[in-house]
Amino acid sequence: MSRTAIVTGGSRGIGAAISVALKEAGYRVAANYAGNDEAAQTFRDQTGIPVYKWSVADYDACVDGIRKVEDELGSVGILVNNAGITRDTPFHKMTREQWTEVINTNLNGVFNMTHPLWNGMRERKFGRVITISSINGQKGQFGQVNYSASKAGDLGFTKSLAQEGARAGITVNAICPGYIATDMVMAVPEKVREAIVAQIPVGRLGEAAEIARCVVFLASDEAGFITGSTLTANGGQYLA
Ligand code: NDP
Repeated sequence: MSRTAIVTGGSRGIGAAISVALKEAGYRVAANYAGNDEAAQTFRDQTGIPVYKWSVADYDACVDGIRKVEDELGSVGILVNNAGITRDTPFHKMTREQWTEVINTNLNGVFNMTHPLWNGMRERKFGRVITISSINGQKGQFGQVNYSASKAGDLGFTKSLAQEGARAGITVNAICPGYIATDMVMAVPEKVREAIVAQIPVGRLGEAAEIARCVVFLASDEAGFITGSTLTANGGQYLA
């Protein structure tokens, strides 16, 4: 059976690699994005994967967007909550906007996407909810009180919802990537990046495709016994 997957933030970075890997594994894929039309259209043209624009921070927009995807591609069985943002600054300088924007996207966005899909997954007795958290949700990070709180929240969400989904054939898992060579990480100054790499035992940044392979595994039927778990993929940088 060909299944439909939604990947939030699926047109760039880790999300783009996830969208492509799921398509190659035989899924129908919808890639959601927030506002970068140019990147999304280039991605669509290069991959043939349809793109859908809405903000995961807006519950009603998620409901409308999911309805459109399901009308066009069929019921969604796999949700990859990948969309995420950073607004880094030390806490004493952090504004309420910087706190709220990050929580609304990285944590509320996970609720806003999962909640409208949940009953359909329960009725069909199948679902995969895979959330991209972060190493910094596990260990904390200077300048990322907002981001780390949101990503740690994603782990609590995953562990609790996994218990509710288990009897309905729905697995709920999280992946905690370490530092991956995407726009988000390449945007930090080169000196800081070098310092980051020095802390990674394997001696390099991760590749988006390495996270995508974790997603394909967790989405598969073969991973049906794995739920509530946190899959760490960080080159040995932090052993939770
Ligand atoms: P990028 O900044 O490269 O891409 C982010 C994607 O998310 C884009 O497609 C963007 O859309 C989309 N997005 C942002 N906000 C929203 C929103 N409100 N609604 C819908 N889509 C949105 O990020 P990465 O690929 O680096 O990161 C992907 C995920 O992995 C994030 O959750 C991040 O926190 C996590 N992560 C990343 C790590 C890394 O090293 N890169 C490490 C650990 C975790 P648009 O193109 O329209 O802007």
